[in-house]
Amino acid sequence: MKETTLNIKFTEYDHINELNVNDAQLIQSAEENLKNAYAPYSLFKVSSAIQLNNAKMVLGTNQENAAYPSGLCAERVAIFSAKSTYPTANVETVVIVTAQENSTPFSPCGGCRQVLMEYELTQKKPIRVILKSGNSKIWIFNSVKDLLPFAFDADDILKKE
Ligand SMILES: [Zn+2]
Repeated sequence: MKETTLNIKFTEYDHINELNVNDAQLIQSAEENLKNAYAPYSLFKVSSAIQLNNAKMVLGTNQENAAYPSGLCAERVAIFSAKSTYPTANVETVVIVTAQENSTPFSPCGGCRQVLMEYELTQKKPIRVILKSGNSKIWIFNSVKDLLPFAFDADDILKKE
């Protein structure tokens, strides 16, 4: 028997001014689009901005539904839209922001982590994830793997003896 510890790495910034211009602009675009979130039930508005390697940016917001499970998280709306419009483009960065004030950022749900991981694995290049909630600190992960260790991937299904 052996107990093992897994470390993950992320960077914390106190203020958006510490970020490079591209990351700061992505966050600002996502925050400006918070107004388009449709969250009449939770009142928890979330917005996402996706930066692709073809210089395109795609936005998404959470979309709720009276039949609760029929809604979808902002980052999944954004990445599905991005990959539907630009299927061959690589995803470089995913920004996820909320209108909710908190000292630390809210992080994506398990389902969204799995969706982001699918694209990271298929493009074979890490996707950066940037999180911010209101005036919270900003967390930057350099790979979805840091948010979803031991992720399930297609190789697990396709493995043959
Ligand atoms: Zn989610």
